[in-house]
Amino acid sequence: MNKIKMTTPLVEMDGDEMTRVLWAWIKEKLILPFVDLKTEYYDLGLLHRNETRDQVTIDAANATRRLGVAVKCATITPNRQRMEEYPELTEMWKSPNGTIRAILDGTAFRAPILLPAIRPVVKTWEQPITIARHAYGDMYKAVDLATEEPGTATLSFRGQSGAERVLEVQTVRGPAIWQAQHNTEESIRAFARSCFQYALSQKQDLWFSTKDTIAKVYDGEFKRIFEEEYETSYRPAFERQGLTYFYTLIDDAVARVLRSKGGFIWALKNYDGDVMSDMVATAFGSLAMMTSVLVSPDGTMEFEASHGTVTRHYYRYLQGEPTSTNPIATIFAWSGALKRRGELDQLPELTRFGEAMETASLETLTAGTMTKDLLSLVEPGFQATGVNSQEFLDAIAQRLAETL
Ligand code: NAP
Ligand code: MG
Repeated sequence: MNKIKMTTPLVEMDGDEMTRVLWAWIKEKLILPFVDLKTEYYDLGLLHRNETRDQVTIDAANATRRLGVAVKCATITPNRQRMEEYPELTEMWKSPNGTIRAILDGTAFRAPILLPAIRPVVKTWEQPITIARHAYGDMYKAVDLATEEPGTATLSFRGQSGAERVLEVQTVRGPAIWQAQHNTEESIRAFARSCFQYALSQKQDLWFSTKDTIAKVYDGEFKRIFEEEYETSYRPAFERQGLTYFYTLIDDAVARVLRSKGGFIWALKNYDGDVMSDMVATAFGSLAMMTSVLVSPDGTMEFEASHGTVTRHYYRYLQGEPTSTNPIATIFAWSGALKRRGELDQLPELTRFGEAMETASLETLTAGTMTKDLLSLVEPGFQATGVNSQEFLDAIAQRLAETL
């Protein structure tokens, strides 16, 4: 069989622990037999990040800007415990995802992978709901203050010109707590653009919700910037594809989402996205079935699984025990990247291959062969067998070979 050719490489970011093991197996069993794979390889494994003083993460992000498509394995974000586990670490390196997101100025979109055998908790949901969370500012870059005595708080802004604006926040008669938040027009605009871009690439409606009736200036600005971007840059493309941009208040949106069939992208402010992404992920089933893609305002995309490095399974693997770690989200990260590469380079064969990887994976699950994490989630009466990761990947590979 002739292998599928690629013209431009994609950026491959390797990672840590169990997901690094799955990474190699996915390539070996599902991709390399069928595709003449071209990647620029960056090893983001913790020890290599340490050896390069984290330069490898920066290099990988810059390569992604240059090549437009990346696929990333889950990586360890070191904490105190990891510093003890890896005594050779010279610093508590920052989260690679944070570094990459800052360089790509991107928004993360999280979407569940659905199976007929696993019904969402919300009965009406038939299609995935993708959450787009703004990842800058608000409460996450706020300053907080607790005060004891009666008094008055003011909010002041000193411009570079020297001009100052002062606003009274509140006068209190006793102990009180305070918080000052901010966001920037630049960040909100980049968020809006990433959302419109991704909606077009996924051919899905875009919903956006804030509380602009209460936060008239703050949330009002989010609403205004989204509208402005839509009107000036995206409306014609949306109309051509029959897509809608829909703004509504956050509480109205929550009610509508619960009654919807799904199948749209829901853009949310930082805190709302933090909360709603966990709700949506849990209602759809499992973290092991959530994909994530980081999208820049210019359409650059980095694909990954939402889950981490599955440490507990890795330690069992190191002891020689075959684990039943679910590779689906990592497979979909690869298929997403290959489809995007195919789309950008006009290689329909490559795009079809990415789709075939997804179909073979879903058919394997639907036929009842799955990793053990899913067994407790399937509908009563559904006949399923729990297998280990290698057996599961072999079953997918066999189906894939039959369809190509
Ligand atoms: P995790 O790796 O997502 O795993 C938490 C638990 O969820 C696992 O122990 C496992 O439960 C279950 N699970 C997650 N993915 C699974 C899969 N594919 N198949 C089967 N079960 C799965 O989260 P964590 O333990 O909090 O974090 C581990 C490391 O990952 C940390 O060092 C963290 O920094 C890193 N992390 C990286 C990213 C990223 O790179 N995007 C994201 C999150 C966390 P059972 O053990 O009960 O089977
Ligand atoms: Mg959360």
